[in-house]
Amino acid sequence: MSTKDFLEKDYYKALDVAKGASAEEIKKSYRKLARKYHPDANKGDAASEERFKEISEAYNVLSDSKRRKEYDEARSLFGAGGPRMPGSGGGQFGGFDLGDIFGSTAGSGGRLGDLFGGMFGGGGGRTTTQARPRRGADVETEASLTFSDAIDGSTVSLRLTDEGPCKVCRGTGAKAGTVPKVCPTCGGTGQSSRDLGSFAFSEPCTTCRGRGLVVDDPCATCSGSGRAMSARTIQARIPAGVADGQRIKLKGKGAPGERGGAPGDLYVKVHVSGHPVFGRNGHNLTVTVPVTFTEAALGAEIKVPAHRGVPVSLRIPPGTPNGRTFRVRGKGVRRSDATMGDLLVKVDVQVPTELTDTARTALEQFRDATTGTDPREELLRKGRA
Ligand SMILES: [Zn+2]
Ligand SMILES: [Zn+2]
Repeated sequence: MSTKDFLEKDYYKALDVAKGASAEEIKKSYRKLARKYHPDANKGDAASEERFKEISEAYNVLSDSKRRKEYDEARSLFGAGGPRMPGSGGGQFGGFDLGDIFGSTAGSGGRLGDLFGGMFGGGGGRTTTQARPRRGADVETEASLTFSDAIDGSTVSLRLTDEGPCKVCRGTGAKAGTVPKVCPTCGGTGQSSRDLGSFAFSEPCTTCRGRGLVVDDPCATCSGSGRAMSARTIQARIPAGVADGQRIKLKGKGAPGERGGAPGDLYVKVHVSGHPVFGRNGHNLTVTVPVTFTEAALGAEIKVPAHRGVPVSLRIPPGTPNGRTFRVRGKGVRRSDATMGDLLVKVDVQVPTELTDTARTALEQFRDATTGTDPREELLRKGRA
């Protein structure tokens, strides 16, 4: 039994059941018909015998869910009786013998959908009205955001190019009003085999470049390839809080589907530029602020910058060491649950480099007031031990 049989024979009709019949219905009808046309019950009746064979063959296929699926698929792809191209009744495929093409693979369990794709090179044949919807491809692109746009979220324009069926020839590659014909070199298989002594191997047919079809009058738009690039610009909403290098999925913004199939997804890799003042650490912002030696020693209330907002007050306690980090709650980056990260403020204690006479005098007085306390005393003692 070949794929050719699949296309030529109506097994549902043979078993007198509807196309959507359940396994139970098929079994029941088969039993009834088999009893009726069984050779033992119809001795010498050639017509009954023929009918009995037909019923058995149909039941063999339809009772096996896997084979039934293949059968249904074959017939929905090609329709009963052979392939059809858009705008043609199938007649232009003169001399096109499905059996030749499928004969070698029909028993190997290869899926018809794949064969079909290979046969028509992913282009022309897929516009056959019987073919199934196909989901659009996922598309990858990149977007550059400023530091602030990454934090606040932003809408970016993305220019995308998709490869799809040529719109002018609807993917057939043939000039309007004409249809492709089966490649005379490979007979439509898209493969040619070469014999190298003890080896024989197949490679894509050079006449049709593996497509299985050739066109006499190529479509001017796609030069006969059936494929065309199209550009589109979309507005994409980048959510707030993305980080540099993050990949964002925008569902349904990829390449459009074919024949009613869903569109693919768009993946946007974001590049976030740096900021002269702030750094990012997850959803926290970081900033380093200089504080004077006296602010650190005596304590102070200082103003620190907030991203895109008025400066905020921060209380520095007396005796704050250099490098200590303070947390200002809620002044960081918005999370997806709408809560806010924090601003992490690191103090950088400044040592005065130029002193006025008054400042020098004051510092000398400070030195004199603190003599007797050597900050290295413990270190020196432990070093001796
Ligand atoms: Zn060829
Ligand atoms: Zn075209």
